[in-house]
Amino acid sequence: MESPDTLRDAIIWFADFEHCRQFMMELRWPGGKVKCPYCGSERVTYLAKARVWKCYTGHDRPTFSLKTGTIFEDSPIALEKWLPAAWLIISCKNGISSYELHRGLKVTQKTAWFMLHRIRLAMQDGGFNKLCVEVEVDETFIGGKARNMHAAKRAEKIQGRGPEGKEIVFGMVERGGKVIAGHMDTRKKKDLQPIIRERIEAGSAIFSDELKSYEGLAADYQHAVIDHAVEYANGNVHTNTMENFWSLLKRGLHGTYISVEPFHLFRYIDEQAFRYNTRKMTDAERFAGVMKQIVGRRVTYKELTGKNLEDGRNSLLLENGRDAEGGSAS
Ligand SMILES: [Zn+2]
Repeated sequence: MESPDTLRDAIIWFADFEHCRQFMMELRWPGGKVKCPYCGSERVTYLAKARVWKCYTGHDRPTFSLKTGTIFEDSPIALEKWLPAAWLIISCKNGISSYELHRGLKVTQKTAWFMLHRIRLAMQDGGFNKLCVEVEVDETFIGGKARNMHAAKRAEKIQGRGPEGKEIVFGMVERGGKVIAGHMDTRKKKDLQPIIRERIEAGSAIFSDELKSYEGLAADYQHAVIDHAVEYANGNVHTNTMENFWSLLKRGLHGTYISVEPFHLFRYIDEQAFRYNTRKMTDAERFAGVMKQIVGRRVTYKELTGKNLEDGRNSLLLENGRDAEGGSAS
């Protein structure tokens, strides 16, 4: 399949609906056998004028489009805007704000925000391979000045969450490999250790700071502790790789995004983890990788803004997290 290599190419290429159609066809039905996303039947005909297929199995909603069953479903935005937007979001090193997207694509800011969050959904990592060999674990605190919050929220923050009402982020990184990070309610042992045990291969070397929550890991791992009150590294005992990731995350948050609601924090963390984990890929490879994940992941505007969706805290445990129910990419 022909496909673009740069953002400029992508914008020009996908301005043509026929190119979008070819791209989506290849992505969804490689080989060209179109199947109904509702029932799997191949007894379908294409209605070119309406740009939809009709399925003859006889179920409700007999028509479907290129967008049905993907993160683009139920959106009136044309693929000619969706695909360049996806390229832009996926390739932009330090993240992109809804305001930049709104100006660049000539869509409303609300639409741009919605597009950003849908693309980010496709960028989430399914997380099925465990980290191994040498893994650093660490926590950091983000944002949130307590005095800007309502009193009730403020009390909750001060009592329950990180220092000064900041949000807690926990991360694990395999040296030379992948990072996994997420927004947490607490950094207590009971919250951190199940995640560590689920996401890091037993027997691996784990490097952490002296936080008490990590005590007891030595039963299943080679656990080495660096006491940050004394020194930042002792030979290979350090958490510098994790520190580097935190700098990237914070640069993204402070540089590009004017404010991040705690409700949405996990999405920004996911996005930065994605950038870190795909850092050796070209833009075209990164785009292709994410696009493979647009199928089977859907989110409605209500879910994005409303109370139906969890805020992504404590989502690193796969059986409790969104990954478990987020639908498969196939
Ligand atoms: Zn069907």
